[in-house]
Amino acid sequence: MEATPDCIFCQIVAGAAPSFPVCEDEQTLTFLDLFPVSPGHTLVITRDHYENLFEAPSAALEAVAATSKRVAGAIRKELAPDGLGIFQLNGAAAGQTVFHYHLHLLPRRMGDPMTLHSRVRGNAEALEAMAARLRAALATEPA
Ligand code: AMP
Ligand code: ZN
Repeated sequence: MEATPDCIFCQIVAGAAPSFPVCEDEQTLTFLDLFPVSPGHTLVITRDHYENLFEAPSAALEAVAATSKRVAGAIRKELAPDGLGIFQLNGAAAGQTVFHYHLHLLPRRMGDPMTLHSRVRGNAEALEAMAARLRAALATEPA
């Protein structure tokens, strides 16, 4: 669970790589996916490095679940999507590409294709504006 220097999410936790932050607490960090499948595509990660579900202790998973509930509320309030997909991939065969435990929160509109990943990097200004909207919405979300 030590920070892993070549892990991009550990670098974000350490402040050594940039992100579009939404919120953080003792055990979790939440920021926008850099390659959003839809506007508001958000990642909730454990602060400590665990490769995936199998390595992460239940307490860390529970902390991520609690954060995701608050962030989901903020997404619903601010973006009013038709639905919200939450997914989490374990192992390359399952499509995992960053090997540091994280949940995807994916706002969806009716009829959106069932895509999990995008190859198109988000526009930095649009991502910052979205992160600011979600931060503001979270300020009124119950703890
Ligand atoms: P997964 O395939 O579940 O491991 O998802 C990893 C996600 O991390 C993908 O959706 C990527 O777009 C996203 N991602 C990769 N690098 C970064 C980064 N530096 N900041 C934010 N999101 C990232
Ligand atoms: Zn890591």
